[in-house]
Amino acid sequence: MTFDSNARLDIGAKYEKDFRRTVLIVDDEPVNLRILGNILKEEFDIVFAQGGTEAVTILKEQKDFLSLVLLDLYMPDGNGYFVLDTMREDETLKNIPVIVLTAEKTAEVESLRRGAVDFLRKPYDSPEVIKARVKRSIELSIDRSIIVETGVDSLTGLMTKEFFFQYAREYDKFHPDQKVDAVVLNFCKFHLINELYGRSVGDNLIRVIAMTAREMSRSCGGVACRYNADCFYMYIEHQSDYSLLKEMLIQRVSSILTPQDARIRIGVYPDLYRSATLEQRFDRATAVSNTISRNIHSPHIAVYDNQMHEKELYEARLLGDMDKALKEHQFMVVFQPKYDITADTPKLFGAEVLIRWKHPEFGFVRPDSFMPLFEENGRIKELDRYVWREAAKQMKRWKDMYGTSVPISVNVSRVDFYDPDLLDFLKGIVAENGIRTDELHLEITETAYTDSVTQIKSVVEGLRNEGFKVEMDDFGKGYSSLNMLTSLPIDALKLDMAFITDIEENNKEMSMVEFILEIARFLGVPVIAEGVESADQYHLLKKAGCDIIQGYYFSKPVSAVEFGQLIEKSAG
Ligand code: C2E
Ligand code: CA
Ligand code: CA
Repeated sequence: MTFDSNARLDIGAKYEKDFRRTVLIVDDEPVNLRILGNILKEEFDIVFAQGGTEAVTILKEQKDFLSLVLLDLYMPDGNGYFVLDTMREDETLKNIPVIVLTAEKTAEVESLRRGAVDFLRKPYDSPEVIKARVKRSIELSIDRSIIVETGVDSLTGLMTKEFFFQYAREYDKFHPDQKVDAVVLNFCKFHLINELYGRSVGDNLIRVIAMTAREMSRSCGGVACRYNADCFYMYIEHQSDYSLLKEMLIQRVSSILTPQDARIRIGVYPDLYRSATLEQRFDRATAVSNTISRNIHSPHIAVYDNQMHEKELYEARLLGDMDKALKEHQFMVVFQPKYDITADTPKLFGAEVLIRWKHPEFGFVRPDSFMPLFEENGRIKELDRYVWREAAKQMKRWKDMYGTSVPISVNVSRVDFYDPDLLDFLKGIVAENGIRTDELHLEITETAYTDSVTQIKSVVEGLRNEGFKVEMDDFGKGYSSLNMLTSLPIDALKLDMAFITDIEENNKEMSMVEFILEIARFLGVPVIAEGVESADQYHLLKKAGCDIIQGYYFSKPVSAVEFGQLIEKSAG
């Protein structure tokens, strides 16, 4: 069942159900089977048996997804008591609730004694009564089995996540064709609510979100759990639209908080692909919810779509192809010249090494689409080492050919700082190729510094003690404080491209650049501006006292051969 536009917000008033359940009806009279089947078929899947023996066979085969048995007592082929006794003695069947169908009072007592949970008297009551008793029996048995098996979350009364996953897995097993959505509901900066308003308001809020999650999942056919402190999972039949959930949350939460404080992110992974495991589907729902800013005000929804799916497939391909690519030398390095502009005429200063992937199927793949991916998946170390070694080998070749080389900078990823062999490896490739450590510059992104100051600081100090030069890359992207900058061991600041793009005489961006240049002078380090594309930008930067420039204005990244020619020209 899906929400239609007239659905009322008060979902509690609608009939509540979890996932569609299956009921076994056992009766030797076809007419009784038909009557009960017709009453229940709208809300349940029905299985029929015409005698006790057949019922037991079905029970054994389908026990995992039968929620209830409606059992006639008097049948020629295996009576109801036989079924009750068989079920009570079987560990795997005894928790399936049974309602007996009978015309006699004495039989009721006897069947309750033998494990039935309720009875329906023939001739039957109204359909509404029958439905209500069936539902209540199922709900009681679920609640009982949840509490018995794993307990519930004490604050919210929702299922625990263990039971939730178990339940969802069972559901998948028996409803392979049902489209199901994985939904993640996440309250951002929840700790602030506790700090600002106190714990009881926080608890209240959690309860209200939990209640909403439960009502939503029940009315859509599904289940909900509290995944951790401020995060809820829902596993529900596919919905085409989640705006109602958003509105429910806004309405409910606004009784406790101002709507601006209700930073709730909703991520939906519609199971349209059926290729992912349950955990992966919730991971994707979480990932898509993370695309919403943590600073949003009022609840927001993001749905995993085909484009994200394509991207994921593409990334999986790239990851899978990496080993082969390394073996077959599909990775290449290019060199982007850096020019010293402090004198009247610009002079070649060095180059930054940048990686390129010549993929046999996708053509040239940009590092922005695979480096962050390899970083996330712990594969970047190998690639970085490959690039550093290529760079060092190339410097040796230039020295052999031209009798000289220029400093070359390589990018160092943040994970490299946690590699205890980093320094030895770098020293090794320098020694192998007969170059000096001060000719190999290391570009370390500013955000790596701000991630973990003490770790990076001690590693960088070690590197500098050996003579390596360290440039702080992408400066301005992160948030180094002035205080931190003064204590950081660095040899140059590399200004992030974003600062250069919009500079014009006397505009705000230009003042920012001038300010950074002042900081660098105060620290006594040169500034490298990257991404310089135009003559205007170049002149503005030169006038402001920038030391080194890298960008399309001088040159795009070039091959080793082309860069060798620049070295030769500048040396000659
Ligand atoms: P990055 O270190 O900030 O490198 C500068 C990027 O700006 C390069 O892109 C370069 O081609 C581009 N660029 C240079 N001048 C200009 C310009 O004037 N205009 C514009 N629009 N762009 C310019 P690329 O080569 O695509 O590299 C992107 C990022 O990938 C790099 O940013 C770096 O973070 C990463 N990367 C590239 N090679 C390596 C590597 O060997 N190791 C590691 N760890 N990361 C790498
Ligand atoms: Ca760089
Ligand atoms: Ca950079």
